[in-house]
Amino acid sequence: MTDLTTWLREQITARKTLTEAAGSLDWSVGNAVSRTDCFIDTGDGGRMAISCGCYSGGTLNKEEADHIAANDPRDVIARCEAELRIIGLHSAMPGQHPDFCWHDKHELPCPTVRLLALPYADRPGYLPEWAPEGTSS
Ligand SMILES: [Zn+2]
Repeated sequence: MTDLTTWLREQITARKTLTEAAGSLDWSVGNAVSRTDCFIDTGDGGRMAISCGCYSGGTLNKEEADHIAANDPRDVIARCEAELRIIGLHSAMPGQHPDFCWHDKHELPCPTVRLLALPYADRPGYLPEWAPEGTSS
């Protein structure tokens, strides 16, 4: 049976790899013609021109463009790296009991790892028994 820590590392690593393939790291909101016709400047000469019809909701408004730019590849990669480090802190250590988190002494997967996995719960392989206490997946 797959353990949550292994599965979660795979999900985070896949997300990080996908993001790294996106090209440039820093995205910003390009000069908008109007507040409802924004685009994302990908910083490498490319633009995501949302008004071309590739966005099913119509054109991007300023708030949507700000949100996309705030979640640019640099941000996603940094979050993935932080998540992987958190998993490293919340695992068993060599020479200690293999079923307990050395950081908080909870049985593995500890509540921190369960919470960290929650945003990935819609992906294949997530098991309902991994859900944090008090949630339903
Ligand atoms: Zn822990």
